[in-house]
Amino acid sequence: MSEENLYQEERSDGLLEFLIETKVRRDPKLLTKSKFLNGLQCPKLLWTRCNAPLEIPEPTAALQKVFDTGHLVSELATRCFPGGVHVQEDDFLKNLAETQALLASKDPKPIYEAGIKAGRLYARADILRPSPEKPGVWDVIEVKCSTKCKDVYLQDIAFQRYCYEQAGIRIGRCYLMHVNNTYVRDGDINPHELFTLLDVTEEIKPFYGVTPSLVKGFLDIIDMPACPHISIREHCRDPYECQMIPICWAFLPREHVLELYRGKSKGFDLIDQGVLRLKDIPDNVKLSANQQIQRVCAITQQPHVELDEINTFIKSLRYPLYFMDFETIFEVLPRFNGTRPYQQIPFQFSVHIQRTPGGPVEHHAFLHKKADDPRLEFIKALSACMGQEGDVVAYNQSFEKLRLKEIGEQFPAYRQCCEDINLRLVDLLVPFQKFYYYHPDEHGSASLKKVLPALTGKGYEGMPIADGGQATSEYSRVTYGAGVDPIDRAKVYADLEAYCGLDTGGMVDILTALRVITKG
Ligand code: SF4
Repeated sequence: MSEENLYQEERSDGLLEFLIETKVRRDPKLLTKSKFLNGLQCPKLLWTRCNAPLEIPEPTAALQKVFDTGHLVSELATRCFPGGVHVQEDDFLKNLAETQALLASKDPKPIYEAGIKAGRLYARADILRPSPEKPGVWDVIEVKCSTKCKDVYLQDIAFQRYCYEQAGIRIGRCYLMHVNNTYVRDGDINPHELFTLLDVTEEIKPFYGVTPSLVKGFLDIIDMPACPHISIREHCRDPYECQMIPICWAFLPREHVLELYRGKSKGFDLIDQGVLRLKDIPDNVKLSANQQIQRVCAITQQPHVELDEINTFIKSLRYPLYFMDFETIFEVLPRFNGTRPYQQIPFQFSVHIQRTPGGPVEHHAFLHKKADDPRLEFIKALSACMGQEGDVVAYNQSFEKLRLKEIGEQFPAYRQCCEDINLRLVDLLVPFQKFYYYHPDEHGSASLKKVLPALTGKGYEGMPIADGGQATSEYSRVTYGAGVDPIDRAKVYADLEAYCGLDTGGMVDILTALRVITKG
């Protein structure tokens, strides 16, 4: 499975704002709503966006998909406010002019992508609609791919309201339109059920109150002759992962203090005190037991091994062992009937079977190569190779467990099979998460991607598909995309087989390595 999948939804809205901005050329010193959000996160990010945008690493090709999806979602949202006009998006001046004309119309209609400039402020509303209550007044509707309301969205809407009012537009109510994650697709997607419309007019008031002073401060930052010095801190990843991290964090040495396991603010505090390396953490700094193990390993450059615990884990395993891993797609717009937004849909598995301790392994794999719902064929193939007894070894088992539970609920004929597999699950993550074994090359992470190379020397480096996020996006691209070259598709499928196969083959290798350690 891919742990990074869990962060996709959080990242998508922030990236969408950035990508929209980079596609529309406009005065770099304007304070747009995207830059306003940058300013809330970090003055250095805001200054760089306005004064040295080329220094910001380009969004990757995979992020283009985020942009395209965001557009699809916005278009669906407009169907809840029919009869409106979609103004020109890519030409900044035309966007402004068309919006002005529509705002002045005697027959006001909803305006989609309405761009409004007030002095050095600019914001573009997903939807402006004539207030159904008051003539001459407009309501703001902000559409988000997220499934819940967050403070950053309220700040975003507060800025929009301020900008529109500064331009002389009378604003009535403000709404956040986010994705309803309980919606289940049945036929064509129903936008009225897909979205939840929240009236946030009252909720934005505290944020609106401070917007004028924030705007003034941010304009001052934009006009500074040099980039302000800002230390790296938690804000680099909150509320969005900053695109400048590869630059701002580049000074950190190998085995640095931000690798402290569950370190929260501790690593940043140490950097503030001039301590950059794990091995340089003074004795008097309070560390958790696991963090202390990291520090000692960084000093000795030797792994930490708790033989008794590892032995107990190994001896608890019941053969034959089935090493199992799933890959999934998860999309904001549910693709298949009976699925929800962001539901994880398994399209691939790999299973390595080892019948005796240290014995040979056999490999079983499944990859759905058609554009229809993969789940029934997936569970048919999986049930055919899982046997009736023996532990099922997963890495971070909660992911696979939940997928099987969902499939069992969707396909009652396989419910018992899914429950049986779940009862046999064992988590190979445990010895590493509990630090029974820790190697300095894990860099504070117990993920398979870090443990496998640290323990066995094998890894994902150089593989065409090397992480779960890439597996998902490449699978979607070649399976659901139009006009895909068959050679390209075949190569991606082969790369996916290799990637998922390494996940389970890697688990076999990890267990083998643990056995060697306990015998050595
Ligand atoms: S990486 Fe951190 S310090 Fe650098 S610009 Fe981003 S938020 Fe600011």
